[in-house]
Amino acid sequence: MTTMRGALEMMTTTTVADWKTSAPTWWCPGCGDFGDLSALQKALVAVGYAPEEVVIVAGVGCSGKIGNYVNSYNMHVTHGRTLPIAMGVKLANPHLKVIAAGGDGDGFALGMGHFMHACRRNVDMTYIVMDNQIYGLTKGQTSPTSAPGFESKSTPEGNVEGAVDPLMLALTAGATFVAQGFTGNQKKLQAVLEAGLQHRGFAFINTFSPCPTYNKVNTFDFFRTELHDIDEDPGYRPNDRIRAMQVLLQHRQLLQGVFYREERPSFHELLPGFSEDKPPVNPDWQLSPALWGKLLNLYR
Ligand code: SF4
Repeated sequence: MTTMRGALEMMTTTTVADWKTSAPTWWCPGCGDFGDLSALQKALVAVGYAPEEVVIVAGVGCSGKIGNYVNSYNMHVTHGRTLPIAMGVKLANPHLKVIAAGGDGDGFALGMGHFMHACRRNVDMTYIVMDNQIYGLTKGQTSPTSAPGFESKSTPEGNVEGAVDPLMLALTAGATFVAQGFTGNQKKLQAVLEAGLQHRGFAFINTFSPCPTYNKVNTFDFFRTELHDIDEDPGYRPNDRIRAMQVLLQHRQLLQGVFYREERPSFHELLPGFSEDKPPVNPDWQLSPALWGKLLNLYR
């Protein structure tokens, strides 16, 4: 059964089971990434995409495994290069829903330059960062979002660097959708993801996704105690960039919800000669199973 999603797009009815794969999950028991996966699958059902409409481009790290567990097209790409590859997919076929996903190390260390440019270009995609404030895949080193003083294998006497502030960076770089969620609050995270998936333009969603194996500071209990829900602020409207920056500073980034949203043409819509019916790169390039088979052969 199909119904209308927006003016032109068809909405598909699926269930969470339609978005699952048979791949065994690799994550440690209790990993926050399970919460991102679950909320994303539920959000995809609610928004009404079909699996063949969606491409997940995932980076390197524990979180980069997420594409293996979602029944959509999936690219597991090189470290820090998630966003330019996702942008290439979108330009090749603007009809696809492109989701980029990765961790704080992938996105805010090697990938930081790409992050800023994706924000300012307003590339039409949803970027989900599964932020656990540590490098988990390499067994527990300090990451760009680790707090000053954070002790890990790489900083046994405490982190001497300041932490990257992804939300503030996104706001200052011109992102048109900036939000944050927590995998321990599934209802809220699903709502934030649904809003991001429906945004036309670059939707950045940072998610606190605790790593119980290596990060004993930023735990589920920590976020349950510390996070403030922006929707509980009477009168807050996510349409004022300066006000969004103020609340982030006020709450030391420990917020969940949608802080900023703006409607503006996305990157590919501004390209000269672009039309929805005439993709700008190569109109013949469709992400068909046959093409994916050829691409996979390159790696064998
Ligand atoms: Fe999750 Fe941490 Fe285990 Fe990686 S090391 S799978 S982030 S719990």
